[in-house]
Amino acid sequence: MEFAQLGLPEYLLSTIEKIGYKTPTPIQEKAVPVALQGRDVIGAAQTGTGKTAAYALPTLARLGEPKGKPRCLVLVPTRELAMQVDEAFRRFGENTADKIALLYGGVRYDQQVKALRAGAEIVVATPGRLLDLQRQRFLDLSSIEVLVLDEVDRMLDMGFIEDVSAIIRLCPKDRQTLLFSATVNKTIREIAGWALREPVEIDVRTGTLAADTISHALYPVAGYQKYDLLLALLERTKYRSVIVFTRTKRDADRITEWLEANGIAVATMHADRTQRERVEALGGFKSGKYSVLVATDIASRGLDISGVSHVINYNVPEHPEDYVHRIGRTGRAGDEGEAFTLFSPDELSQLQAIERLLGKPIERKKLDGFRYRTEPLMLMPGAVPAARPRRRNR
Ligand code: AMP
Repeated sequence: MEFAQLGLPEYLLSTIEKIGYKTPTPIQEKAVPVALQGRDVIGAAQTGTGKTAAYALPTLARLGEPKGKPRCLVLVPTRELAMQVDEAFRRFGENTADKIALLYGGVRYDQQVKALRAGAEIVVATPGRLLDLQRQRFLDLSSIEVLVLDEVDRMLDMGFIEDVSAIIRLCPKDRQTLLFSATVNKTIREIAGWALREPVEIDVRTGTLAADTISHALYPVAGYQKYDLLLALLERTKYRSVIVFTRTKRDADRITEWLEANGIAVATMHADRTQRERVEALGGFKSGKYSVLVATDIASRGLDISGVSHVINYNVPEHPEDYVHRIGRTGRAGDEGEAFTLFSPDELSQLQAIERLLGKPIERKKLDGFRYRTEPLMLMPGAVPAARPRRRNR
């Protein structure tokens, strides 16, 4: 299918051509025509599928001439995603006069208030700051025509359910709602039940969940040797750039110190870092100043960083979906990628949940030449997911 067949206006088609998109992705093919008709959408799509354009393009087309008040609200879970969505709207909207306000916490209010006062049509926001500004009457949501809820599963994981519900209620009933989420669970269906009107459901998740171009390996190791194994893996791997994921902010800080002490240039991203630090970290990682990014899950969703050759999970992620999101930072757009997970015996139940979600075991590996002080628990592939005990031949 061609972009020209989706019903988008000419000025957007020429922007798309200029950006260099050749053909629409599956979510764009399915969501754009439906959204252009003004219908509500539930899109089950991971990041990397082109979902931002799938809602931004029809929304820009439908807004038409600017009216000087907020008409489209895009709600996202994190500042990083907010910045990316803002950038996407600016690129796609270069031929339109719509002004954009980007609202997120952790920074001063003045610029954001200024953007709103300047007559922003499109508001891209994280829930907390948006409500803050709304309560201070810097923003009125009663003129919203299109509400986009992006990465809803993530917003719920982050505890934003009440904020998100409050924001939906502040928007006029007579609006279009486009909901996107990597997973569509019961809670999301409940929200869709009262917030959306006869939505068209679009599911573009692939059966295998994780891209085929990513090879996975599990490195069993005793917890106290994880630091050493991480370092040994980095030393022996030919990588372009690596993201090391940790479960906690403390782990992220400690690993950063440990790697820096061993002469590796590291950037760090987690929720306690200031906005300036996060921007610097991400920018430095993208530019190649840092070859390793140590991050909590805040960086695992939505971020579009190309050229990440390796993802290393320092811990087995607690939620199985996070595994898919984390490893999805590599192997993007058909590139080859490798994902290593350091696994200690106390993480068995999380590992089982991941292997159930993937529908297959992750290959166990032992790092040659590494001095394991405790013999690693090499549960063989296939042994873990089998819930039923096998009968032995007697
Ligand atoms: P998203 O899932 O919206 O974060 O998009 C992931 C990446 O795919 C972004 O870098 C987009 O610029 C890119 N992208 C989106 N749509 C297309 C397309 N039709 N063709 C090529 N690249 C695209």
